[in-house]
Parts: sequence; structure tokens; C-alpha cells
Amino acid sequence: MEENGKANGKSNGNGHVVMPAFELEHILVPRLKNVPKISAPVTLTSGEDRLQEIIKMLLLELGLDASSEHFRDTPRRVAHFYREFTRGYHADPAQILKTFRSRTNELIALSDIQFFSLCPHHLLIYGGRIDFGYVPNEQIVGISKIPRLVQALASRPVVQENLVADIADAFMSVVKPLGCVVKATGRHGCVAARGVRCPEATMSTVALRGVFSADQKYVQDFYQAIGRNAEYLR
Ligand SMILES: [Zn+2]
Repeated sequence: MEENGKANGKSNGNGHVVMPAFELEHILVPRLKNVPKISAPVTLTSGEDRLQEIIKMLLLELGLDASSEHFRDTPRRVAHFYREFTRGYHADPAQILKTFRSRTNELIALSDIQFFSLCPHHLLIYGGRIDFGYVPNEQIVGISKIPRLVQALASRPVVQENLVADIADAFMSVVKPLGCVVKATGRHGCVAARGVRCPEATMSTVALRGVFSADQKYVQDFYQAIGRNAEYLR
């Protein structure tokens, strides 16, 4: 026992073996690779490869082992993720919102549209649900096109305050209803997992256009239609 102790660590004089500090640290915390910091821009290729190389540089700059089995495909995965969450910049609401003629000018509402977006301040995911309503003016829209519009415009770095406004303005300009309302309820990764660390905090943002901003009765009809209480929109 004494012999083994001498071989693998140091005896503390009482027959106990004390492991050298660096070995303990190695067992508890995998050490970062000693990779030199990147001080000058690296020559990059173009397109998708360029983004992958930038992400690989990020891994290297953090001292991570970009060649390990866990990180090897990370640049490709993360590049795909950021492409997915910037495609909203290419969304065309006029292409998404197919309209039909209709005589109705009664409220139409669609609730609980799940969405995910990217916080532009931290590039972290936030998401939740959007409730939407509109009062048509001779034109209605295919109901599945509303979630398509929400998800298309959410797929980019945008603050939740602007997201509801952008959805409302896009809908108004294409469908030309008497008015529309967009309410988003979202939880933000940057509030939940870092900084103030409030995972339960929920942010609500509302955009009212046309008759919804002019007449409170339409707003009340909307929250009744989606089954929320009177305080929901206040
Ligand atoms: Zn943020």
C-alpha cells in the first residue's frame, strides 16, 4: 500500500496518499486545450463554409478542442442553426398570405401559435405563443397562413416588441383588413439562464392596428374569442 502510494501520489506521513493537485483538477474539470488565441483574422472561404469557419474560430478562441467527437460537427450544426434563424429576413408576407374574397366583417381569431425567435442582444432563443385576431374587409386569409407568417417573421434576431409590430404591419399591408391584433407571450433564454436568471419571467407584447386601436370593444371581443380574461390585454 505504501509502495502504491509512493508510485501514484505523495504520502502525507499518516499513511494517507495525497494526489498531486494537477491530477485532481484533471479528474474534476477537463482542462481546456492550450490553443493560442487568434489575434488576426483568418482567411475565410465564402458562403456556408465561411460561417462554419467563423464558428470553428469561436471554439478555438475559447480554447475548446474543435477536433473532439463532440465539437467536430459543431460548426456545421451551429451554422445551420443561425441560417435557420436569419431566414426571416428573406420572408415575403405577400407570398405567404394567400387571400380569398369574403363578405364577413366579423372577428376572426387564432390563438396559441407557438413561435421561437432569436434575441438580437444576446443571440439566445426566446419563444412562447402568439394570439392573433383580425376583422376582415372583403378579404380573408387561409387560416394556416397566419402561423406561417408568425414563424417566418420570428425566424430572425428581433426584439419581441418589434416582432408583434412587424407581424401586424405585414398583415395590414397584404390583407388590408379593418384591423388586427397580435399578442405575444414569451420566455427569454437571456433572462432565464444568464444575467438576472428569472426562468419564470414572461414578457407580453401587444400590437393593435385599425379598429383594434380605435375601439376597445374589438379588443374585448378578441380576448373573449380566445378565452382569456379581461386583464389579459391590459
Ligand atoms: Zn437577450
